[in-house]
Amino acid sequence: MTKTTIYTCDKCGATSEKADDIIGIAIVVQQSSYQMAYGAPKSFYKHWCIPCLKKFDLIPQPSKDKPKPVPTFNDLIEELMEEIVGRQMDERS
Ligand SMILES: [Zn+2]
Repeated sequence: MTKTTIYTCDKCGATSEKADDIIGIAIVVQQSSYQMAYGAPKSFYKHWCIPCLKKFDLIPQPSKDKPKPVPTFNDLIEELMEEIVGRQMDERS
């Protein structure tokens, strides 16, 4: 016997056998003086398919800009040395 789980979009009714195709979303509003100890209660969640999330712009689009490389320790030391030397040159002139 085989069991199949079908996931259904609460917005459009699309179905999928893959759990990753249907995303749980919830909006939580909280007073700023309280720290959020928990997420939204499970009953607050709606499950939407990826096309519905994209339609409402709820999936961040990858940036077309290349990410800046993370500076190495040597890069930081060189930048610091250039700043110090530059500052000393300014003080002498
Ligand atoms: Zn949908």
